[in-house]
Amino acid sequence: MKLIEFTKHFPDEESCKEAFKAYRLKQGVRCTKCGGMSHYWKGYREQWECKKCKRRTTLKSGTVMHGSKLPFQYWFIAMHLITSTKKSFSAKEIQRQLGHKRYEPIWAMMHKLRSVMGLRDGEYRLKEEIELDEGFFETVSVARDKSEPLKRGRGSQRQTTVLVSVESKDAGDGHNPKKHGKKKKVGYLKMKVVESLKKECIYDNVSTSVEKNTKI
Ligand SMILES: [Zn+2]
Repeated sequence: MKLIEFTKHFPDEESCKEAFKAYRLKQGVRCTKCGGMSHYWKGYREQWECKKCKRRTTLKSGTVMHGSKLPFQYWFIAMHLITSTKKSFSAKEIQRQLGHKRYEPIWAMMHKLRSVMGLRDGEYRLKEEIELDEGFFETVSVARDKSEPLKRGRGSQRQTTVLVSVESKDAGDGHNPKKHGKKKKVGYLKMKVVESLKKECIYDNVSTSVEKNTKI
């Protein structure tokens, strides 16, 4: 959809909300308590109520927007930008375009959209603080002689080396440092098959998959 058509279809919050509601109805709203599929629409609350058990379902619950306080229009604009252009937009840029004060909710929205829309991992760059480690995965060959057990460990054949990077930062207060050390908050994760664990190889990989000024 072109931008001009998008603005005609979704000129305001109300039109986005209506479209989203219609989309959910088409998919079928499922009760999280009893699994029932028939609901009453409680317009004044903007919620569905299960005909069987009375459990209420908001427009956003159970969807990518679950728990978000951002307007529907923000989500629609962000989805439009992500899907209709070849450019990749940073959360910062979307925040600027939307004129929203706080970065975090916009970042969270983009984060969720990226993961559900299945954009290629390669397009996403890890940021802030990441942890890096290697992993070894047994590579199964169909032709392999099954009577011969695989060797374990770093040096053995038939192991694929995978570089694992994960966004990780201190979760802040409210943890017990005595128990498990520092509590970490984990973000986006990337796993990539690498040729080797040589310095150059790791460097090449990391430099293309993280934002500048990332602490590793
Ligand atoms: Zn129910």
